[in-house]
Amino acid sequence: MSRISQTSVGNFKVIALRDGELSLPAEVLMNLSDEQSQQIATDENSTLATSNVNAYLIQTESKNLLIDSGCRDLFGPTCGFLQDALKEAGLGPNDITDIFFTHLHPDHVAGAIDAEGSAVFKNASFKVIDLEYNFWTSDTFTDAEVNGNDWAGLARAALSAYEDKIETISFGKDIISGVSSVDIPGHTPGHSGFRVDEGNETLIQMGDILHVPNLQLENPNIATIFDVDSEAALKSRKEVLDMVSTDRLLCTSGHMIKPKFGYIEKSGESYRIAR
Ligand SMILES: [Zn+2]
Repeated sequence: MSRISQTSVGNFKVIALRDGELSLPAEVLMNLSDEQSQQIATDENSTLATSNVNAYLIQTESKNLLIDSGCRDLFGPTCGFLQDALKEAGLGPNDITDIFFTHLHPDHVAGAIDAEGSAVFKNASFKVIDLEYNFWTSDTFTDAEVNGNDWAGLARAALSAYEDKIETISFGKDIISGVSSVDIPGHTPGHSGFRVDEGNETLIQMGDILHVPNLQLENPNIATIFDVDSEAALKSRKEVLDMVSTDRLLCTSGHMIKPKFGYIEKSGESYRIAR
């Protein structure tokens, strides 16, 4: 099955690269109903807690911008296929000119380095939000729950592999001309989406506001334990979903399953992908 889904925004080509898929265990999900927990725990065919790991490629006249880099071999045998997806898009790692990271969690940054800690994308600049950089590299980083020292170690290993090529950017600023970062508070301190504005067209990538879209669109109060600030993350999920549904903006997100690019509709307190 193909690992790429392509759309265009003005003259830019935007390709979702499917690094892999996995199912999240009920233990990492909060605010499930008893019935949902039961179904996830006992029904191996349940798709409720299904997730995908997506990276993105944006091609302009002069740039091959990669956004996020998948999880390499860290999340088991069904993930870590970013390089296959890139190949399907006709590119190798040396063709990437820039990488932007929505945040530095392992499923977004691990694929940027190999098992020995060397840079995989040798010609690329490494762009990250300043607050995100500061969070993971702080001397006072506290080993809190899942966002603990192992994850910080990986983020730091990736940063050190690209040491000379790191560019920190502030929220709202261009990543490359026509593609800018979007402040989406909560998941991590510098968690970002991105927007592409080209010609008269716009695409919004909503970062990690959804990890299990089959559950969270229906009930946005369902959350994962991976949010550094869960209250802010919940607020962000609702605000961003309200914005893309009210303004009818083409959107996608880091763990969107299918379609990769689509429109969201609101109905009551729930959301759904427009058919
Ligand atoms: Zn993620």
